[in-house]
Amino acid sequence: MSKYTIGIDLGGTTMTAGLVDANYEIVGKITRATQLPRPAADLEQALADLCRSVAKENNVSFEDVSYVGIGTPGSVNFTTGFVGYNTNFNYYDWNLGPDLEALLGCKVYVENDANAAAFGEYIAGGAKGYRNAVIITLGTGIGSGIILDGKILRGFNFAAGEMGHTVIVKGGRLCNCGRRGCWERYASARALSEDTREAMKTAPDNMMWKIAGDLDHVNAKTAFDAMAAGDALAKQVVDTWLEYVGCGVANVVNTFQPEVICIGGGVSNQGEVLLAPVRAYVEKETHNITTGRVPEIRACVLRNDAGVIGAAALASSI
Ligand SMILES: [Zn+2]
Repeated sequence: MSKYTIGIDLGGTTMTAGLVDANYEIVGKITRATQLPRPAADLEQALADLCRSVAKENNVSFEDVSYVGIGTPGSVNFTTGFVGYNTNFNYYDWNLGPDLEALLGCKVYVENDANAAAFGEYIAGGAKGYRNAVIITLGTGIGSGIILDGKILRGFNFAAGEMGHTVIVKGGRLCNCGRRGCWERYASARALSEDTREAMKTAPDNMMWKIAGDLDHVNAKTAFDAMAAGDALAKQVVDTWLEYVGCGVANVVNTFQPEVICIGGGVSNQGEVLLAPVRAYVEKETHNITTGRVPEIRACVLRNDAGVIGAAALASSI
């Protein structure tokens, strides 16, 4: 049994390969520009070179690498390593897994990037030690990965786990998935920024203007900062947003009853200011009353390394 695996976090701007040991710790990693647009075959060569380089730089023979795992945007068939349409890269029907196996001469697993990052958090991060976990990332949208009994829930078409596109307000805000009222339109970090801007427009003298400077510099931290400084309008914005976060998390609990839910994304840096109200909402709204046991709700811990570690552990996700 080899001691190492390699995990790749492939993004539209950068790609990172990490050499990972048997304890799911990153021994060394390399980040390079993805350099899009480029032909798929060219990117595959670059990925193969990245894998060989990260092994070599850490004085590990590539023969001691048991497999390579990749987390990529797009719809991924985990069984075949085939990537359907990928909006970031503009590739259709990308035969990534088999092509990279031919270049490297080892097994290559390919998974959707959100699932790979969730699996990293499950195996070595905030959900370590549990068997049933849901990882929620509050960012531009809401990403989620569902791990049940130690396996990634992939579902038919490998498209399960899109909690961000479950509707919480029927007929509500239009989402870019085509539905109205999706959870991510109300509870993502972007939604908080949008709500903050709308509130600021109604209050030209509000403290949030001083914090952000102008509307273009509003982010998910703006309202939290103003709330911490005692601003009532900011508290109203944050409280409303937290209720939407809590509503979706309660749906997650009622659907999956995971032992733990980890919340990630930059806004999770708010820590207990975010987590405590979400916990309170979930305890009020979920059906654990008979046992009194409520799933743990905590922050993700691996941050940018989750994707690499999760990809490097994909053989365990089946
Ligand atoms: Zn949607």
